[in-house]
Amino acid sequence: MKILVINCGSSSLKYQLYNMDEKTGVVLAKGLVERIGMEGSNLQHTPEGKDKFVFEQPLADHSEAIKLVMDKLIDPECGVISDLSQINGVGHRIVHGGKYFSDSCIVTEEVKDAIKKCFDLAPLHNPANLMGIEACEKLMPGVPQITVFDTAFHHSMPQKAFMYALPYEYYEKDDIRKYGFHGTSHKYVSMRAIDMLGGKKESKIITCHLGNGSSVAAVKDGKGIDTSMGLTPLEGLFMGTRCGDIDLAVVFYLMKKEKLPAHAIDQIMNKESGVYGISGVSSDFRDIETAANEGNERAKLALDMFHYKVAKYIGEYFIALGGADAIVFTAGLGENSKTSRAAICEQLKCLGVEIDEEKNSKRGEEIDISSPNSKIRVFVIPTNEELMIAQDTKELLDK
Ligand code: ADP
Repeated sequence: MKILVINCGSSSLKYQLYNMDEKTGVVLAKGLVERIGMEGSNLQHTPEGKDKFVFEQPLADHSEAIKLVMDKLIDPECGVISDLSQINGVGHRIVHGGKYFSDSCIVTEEVKDAIKKCFDLAPLHNPANLMGIEACEKLMPGVPQITVFDTAFHHSMPQKAFMYALPYEYYEKDDIRKYGFHGTSHKYVSMRAIDMLGGKKESKIITCHLGNGSSVAAVKDGKGIDTSMGLTPLEGLFMGTRCGDIDLAVVFYLMKKEKLPAHAIDQIMNKESGVYGISGVSSDFRDIETAANEGNERAKLALDMFHYKVAKYIGEYFIALGGADAIVFTAGLGENSKTSRAAICEQLKCLGVEIDEEKNSKRGEEIDISSPNSKIRVFVIPTNEELMIAQDTKELLDK
């Protein structure tokens, strides 16, 4: 069974074509279209086992971008299939499913309407995601389209976890509540962690997705019961450029003090804050680690603040879960930075967490980095959101 996974951003499109005959999937080709609707649009297409092909040509919209991808997938030189009819289904990553979706589903008119209803909640992402679906429907009539939502995994949160203590009417009228994001990643790594725990039926896992965007989730018996991101991906941990949790009164204070309009503060909190805002160096953790090693005090502060904040969230979810069997580190920083993992785990000693320095130095593989005495297992698990989308798509098609 061949499944195409598509992730449409506002001006970009990422894809992977999988052969899903086996559960772990085999990537046949993958690629990226950049600058859709802008000058310099291009496709970077990599068939399995071959070098990258780059095609530069004007692409007015996502429909033209997907058409180009399809042409290259069946191209005699760089293609990997002979005919588009060999694709059994397409899995689309959708950022916001709002209150409507607790699981992946097959696209219908109702599903598209609900994705539209979430436009206000994710104005940059959901319209692009929907464009991807509509373009595929046009180009591959009759091929089932499946949607996989970033928010769906967190749908199992109990009401006490997802409510904000605002007047109740805003929850009823405007759907203002915590939704959470990175759900596909939290789902994938928590499933892998359950496997690594020997397929334990009852499990308590804390998953830390630490990348450009970062979030922590509490997962009980395979279901999300709390997470750090909220109505939008701004809440929770601070990140590359996002400020995360702050006293909301800062907004009104800044408006008055600096005479700033709301949209300027939105820009500050989403694009100019986080480790970038603190360090003044970069939003990229690698640059911050380098600067900190060279003695830059603000870079050191940014890292100290970040590790402290992650450790505090882990403590919070330890309470929410009533203990923990495993803590998982994933995404760019979580998978690659042994110093960040060590600094976070150092603060978890009071929970009985102990890691093995040598195991913590390994990279790029699923590994248990805890020492035999540790009361909680600590896993590094490379995330694979595309594979999770392909697996969900296959599962729905099989049904
Ligand atoms: P995204 O949220 O864009 O998917 P990623 O999960 O790819 O992000 O994570 C990107 C972040 O991971 C960047 O801040 C990058 O600096 C960090 N990162 C990647 N590799 C390393 C490394 N070896 N050491 C420290 N940080 C790293």
